[in-house]
Amino acid sequence: MSCVLLWFKNDLRLHDNESLQKAIASGKPILPVYCFDPQHYRQLDLGFPKADAVRLEFTKQCVTDLKINIQKIGGNLLIATGNSAKVISNLVKEYDCDEIFTEQEFATEEKDLISDLRKLLPVNCALNMTWGRTLYHIDDIPYKIPDIPLTSKAYRINTQKNTEVRKSLDTPNKIDVLNIPLDKWGKLPKNSELGLIEEKNYALTYMIGGESKALERLNNYLFETKQLTSYRWTRNRSLGLDYSSKFSPYLALGCLSPRTIYEAVREYEKTIKKNQSTWWIIFEMVWRDYFTFKLMRFQNQVYRTEGYSNKTKDFQNSKDLFQRWCEGRTGIPFVDAHMRQLNETGFMSNRGRVNSSSFLVYDYLIDWTWGAAYFESKLIDYDVASNWMNWHTQAYQIWYTNPVNQANKYKAQEFIRKWVPEIKHLSDRDILIPWESDVIEYPKPAEIFTKWSRAINKIKKELE
Ligand code: FAD
Repeated sequence: MSCVLLWFKNDLRLHDNESLQKAIASGKPILPVYCFDPQHYRQLDLGFPKADAVRLEFTKQCVTDLKINIQKIGGNLLIATGNSAKVISNLVKEYDCDEIFTEQEFATEEKDLISDLRKLLPVNCALNMTWGRTLYHIDDIPYKIPDIPLTSKAYRINTQKNTEVRKSLDTPNKIDVLNIPLDKWGKLPKNSELGLIEEKNYALTYMIGGESKALERLNNYLFETKQLTSYRWTRNRSLGLDYSSKFSPYLALGCLSPRTIYEAVREYEKTIKKNQSTWWIIFEMVWRDYFTFKLMRFQNQVYRTEGYSNKTKDFQNSKDLFQRWCEGRTGIPFVDAHMRQLNETGFMSNRGRVNSSSFLVYDYLIDWTWGAAYFESKLIDYDVASNWMNWHTQAYQIWYTNPVNQANKYKAQEFIRKWVPEIKHLSDRDILIPWESDVIEYPKPAEIFTKWSRAINKIKKELE
């Protein structure tokens, strides 16, 4: 009897997974596969890998958890390493699979990979793709992709008024997988097999990957601690875990379905509290959808320096300043604390992302695509649409964010003390303007801009 291949990519979950459901419904034995592709970890000309070890670590955790969860319902997951198109087509041939079930891709590089795969597949093997990454299904939104509005508001209002979120799909309790020898199920690759240097132990990773932890987090943030009630007022902070949901790493790898989050929030509104926070978190999820569809509209134009809007800026592109920004050595504590947190944990708050991107583009005059590539390398919640569209927005669509003022406004002293220990002994006032104190271990900023003067004076006046 022939079999079907179930190719997991960024949908590493059993709940609400249409590809999985369809594979089971085929009634044939299933070969579930995840492939680590060295292309994702290749070295970029900018001097760092496309995806770094911290992202790989998180992905390994997600894949391990998926394997365990499939085993719990009677199956297994084949873990392969290599060029995905070749690996998948070779498995199809080796095991005589006549259909592949997988999630539909929407960005250029990922779509190219699917085209490569098509060329390698036997003619009798069908490629069956499902859509699972957004809250609103791509077939249900009131727009064709070329007509996605240029403003999020136009998209959001019309979509929320005219579209229903589809009901999430159940988690299957049984799976029949292909009977293959135990040693054929593969194992996690070493970092070096993907071209990454085994230089760091991320034992202290901020979040642990996988569907199990994702569902735990959802339950914890909503029903156990009821943190969601205050989300609207805490979401701009940076210190700790609970000021925002931390769903993004799980959404990025598909450990958590947006529809499952939606249903949980609606349940929360019914049973615990409906307020501005519950409205706002759904609003953010709709933003995520909007960026996905907008990226689909503009495709490759998004990744260019001039962006999809053909804008220009007088970028100076100092390699030295870029290096200082990447390492968190700009001398601006609010930026450095966030960049160091990113380097250590693979996560940064939204406030940090807004400030560090704005600083790179407006103060260091560095091409925003360099910054976006650096975030892509490091963020455990890296998502092609959310990252590149947010960076594009920072570079061309919204105003400058003053990192000296923001550090004061968001009372970032404790956060700075955690990540920039060289200046932790300074007072609440001096730690926001450390260039005025004599601390030799911490770098002086390349420039103190006059546009910061008001913020600096305010800090001096208001704080001890
Ligand atoms: P919450 O505040 O709890 O929000 C809930 C969910 O809403 C998030 O998990 C996320 O899926 C979605 N969301 C919230 N804000 C945004 C937003 N601005 N754009 C799109 N979706 C949003 N988010 C990513 O998921 N991946 C990225 O690669 C990414 N890169 C970014 C780069 C820059 C320069 C900026 C300014 C923002 C970026 N964001 C990215 C958006 C945002 O910072 C993160 O989604 C958020 O900080 C994740 O934390 P959370 O899950 O606790 O968010």
